[in-house]
Amino acid sequence: MIRRVADRIADFRSDTLTCPTPAMREAMATAVVGDDVFGEDPTVIALEREGAAFLGQEAALYVPSGTMANQCAIHVHCRPGDELICEERSHVFLYEGGGAARWSGTQVRALPSAPDADGFPSPAAIEAAVRRDDPHFPRSRLLVLENTHNMAGGTVLDRAGLEARITTARRHGLRVHVDGARLANAAIALGLPASALIAGVDSVSLCLSKGLGAPVGSLLAGSAAFVAEARRARKALGGGMRQAGVIAAAARLALRDGPAELERDHARARALADAFAELPGLRPRAPATNILMVDVAAPLRADRLVTALAERSVRALQVGPERLRFVTHRDLSDADVERCITAMRAAVGDTSS
Ligand SMILES: *Cc1c(COP(=O)(O)O)cnc(C)c1O
Repeated sequence: MIRRVADRIADFRSDTLTCPTPAMREAMATAVVGDDVFGEDPTVIALEREGAAFLGQEAALYVPSGTMANQCAIHVHCRPGDELICEERSHVFLYEGGGAARWSGTQVRALPSAPDADGFPSPAAIEAAVRRDDPHFPRSRLLVLENTHNMAGGTVLDRAGLEARITTARRHGLRVHVDGARLANAAIALGLPASALIAGVDSVSLCLSKGLGAPVGSLLAGSAAFVAEARRARKALGGGMRQAGVIAAAARLALRDGPAELERDHARARALADAFAELPGLRPRAPATNILMVDVAAPLRADRLVTALAERSVRALQVGPERLRFVTHRDLSDADVERCITAMRAAVGDTSS
């Protein structure tokens, strides 16, 4: 029997909430393990090989979290006093505890976006942010793109859009890191292999523990030389894990079987958006992947809706003064989606009166 904390709740707060499947638990129980800091865990080695192939990179590194993947990348690419360029709602800027400054002495140049923008700074905006070579200025070193973009609502940067930004970055000697926490969602939405989508970047991270369903861990991939340096950074950050094959065994199944689950998640996000669009006071944004942002207009209030939904065993996340986020994932059923729609209808009725 699988034990989860919240079986009776339809939880749309995040795709990080997915729990390991029975097959994953079985693989964890029987995993062949060794000391990965000595490079001797065969299950981690296999995961890193499969991850590199999935991402079309020479090598990959298994790290405890997406945050550590991004921070290792920043640490390898940047020197203290360097500047990285990203969009202002980026995970690396908002949600990593100031890691770029803490661990790498790297300054973040966060490019502004309109509230409804897709989260991908234009090539012209990137170009305009690059500093001149002048001792007054920090050195512009790294461009970080987030694909899909979480806080923009799971938006997707397609191959042409990525290529245009890589070209701009190269022209100015910037390296390019893709925060691909949900890169597998982007690839499925575009109908492309992830490897084809991100070809030409210097490094890419991928969360195994979100929609793909692993309990723990992310991959960081790039050239063999980059990954060798990232391995040193991971150790310095305390991310050297010993018999990590126990969790890597589940992560391998997530990487193998997870992508095929994502299209259903995307369809469910669209179904929620369609149903919410019929309700007065809700303005859902058309979801490109598994993240649905819903703006709430008076007399409705986002905080009251969250409470009213929770009273009906449905959970959503408030991500702005009047904005809610719903994330679909493999631990939800069609019945949960229906329950969410029914609960939202009732909650809108309750809280607007
Ligand atoms: C979740 C996420 C991460 C990493 O999160 P962890 O919780 O550290 O694994 C990085 N970038 C984006 C865009 C994310 O959504």
